[in-house]
Amino acid sequence: MKFVLASHNKGKLKEMQEILGTLGVEVVMESDLGLALEVEETGCTFAENAMLKAKAVMEASGLPAIADDSGLCVDALGGAPGIYSARYGGLDTDQERYALLLQNLRGAMNRAAHFHTAIVCCFPNGDTLEAAGDCFGTIAYAPMGEEGFGYDPVFFVPEKRKTFAQLTGEEKNAISHRGNALRTFAEKLKTYLEKN
Ligand code: IMP
Repeated sequence: MKFVLASHNKGKLKEMQEILGTLGVEVVMESDLGLALEVEETGCTFAENAMLKAKAVMEASGLPAIADDSGLCVDALGGAPGIYSARYGGLDTDQERYALLLQNLRGAMNRAAHFHTAIVCCFPNGDTLEAAGDCFGTIAYAPMGEEGFGYDPVFFVPEKRKTFAQLTGEEKNAISHRGNALRTFAEKLKTYLEKN
């Protein structure tokens, strides 16, 4: 069965193919089908935004479509930046965004935070599958590490005594919100495909 990934991110396609390939499914990108949808993320939750993207791409392609939406939620900031992680403070670069986060947390006693990922798959017959994953940690006092992207240099994982940016891609995938959500999604998809 062929699935389309509602994303323009080649890294996400690779991750998805690695995990879902074991189920014998093929995953292609929107652009492989000549699609370039700009879906407005008007939802109030990660799952709502993933649903908006998956539904739009499923309707445009006629194929089952998978979308994900992720972000960083910081307890002392009431869950911010949350669904606004990619545009926190209206700033243009990852470095500016995590610098703003560190500034907003100056003096905060509670530095607990978690990354969350929601994955939604919409099928043309109206069926939907949803999965979610988290990774819990704290916000470091200063950026550390060179790997990864986004808020990785300031997201500290106590069990590893490292930030996400100090882990290899493989180490991060094994514990990350996206890795956890993908593994749960793969389990749910396996069960769905066995029944249908
Ligand atoms: P997306 O929904 O996967 O595109 O993620 C939205 C935003 O959340 C990204 O632009 C990053 O700022 C942040 N984010 C999501 N996942 C990660 C991660 O694994 N590391 C660092 N930042 C992330």
